[in-house]
Amino acid sequence: MKLTNRAVTVSNKEMSLFEKLYLPAVVKGMGITLKHMFKKPATVSYPEETRPRAIVWRGKHVLKRDEEGRERCTACGLCAVACPAEAITMIAGERTKEEKHLYREEKYAEMYEINMLRCIFCGMCEDACPKSAIYLTDRLVEPEDTRKNFIYGKDKLVEPMENRIDISERQIKNY
Ligand code: SF4
Ligand code: SF4
Repeated sequence: MKLTNRAVTVSNKEMSLFEKLYLPAVVKGMGITLKHMFKKPATVSYPEETRPRAIVWRGKHVLKRDEEGRERCTACGLCAVACPAEAITMIAGERTKEEKHLYREEKYAEMYEINMLRCIFCGMCEDACPKSAIYLTDRLVEPEDTRKNFIYGKDKLVEPMENRIDISERQIKNY
């Protein structure tokens, strides 16, 4: 079955004297290289330059806080159950009286991790969350040189109060 019209039949015919000189082929190759030098490059100089991304694009997660700065996540585990890549793990803890200002619910995530190497950024965790606690943002997962650094804990996931992460753009509009 022919998939494209670009198939070339391979020939084992004897090379002519002209072909054996190789020079014409070298000149032809140089011509192709020169032609590409004046074309607009297909690549960008990342990270200085970035390509525009769709507004619905899903990137790195954030664990949201409420208006009073308390963590919204109640460690119910629904996001982990919904995750098709089994990328989420957590350990639940019981909130004490003194911790009421830190966690919104009586149960909270003592440990919460997402393995960014497993994640396929499908957004199922976001859809499954009954507490509006986890969202995917427009931020990129930074490059790392060891696998363990791609396992994001609460230190990287919970939004800092002094630098809150706006997720409204993708959430409010009805795409
Ligand atoms: S975006 Fe999808 S794959 Fe990634 S953690 Fe959420 S549910 Fe799992
Ligand atoms: S992020 Fe949402 S779904 Fe996941 S454990 Fe926390 S409250 Fe439950």
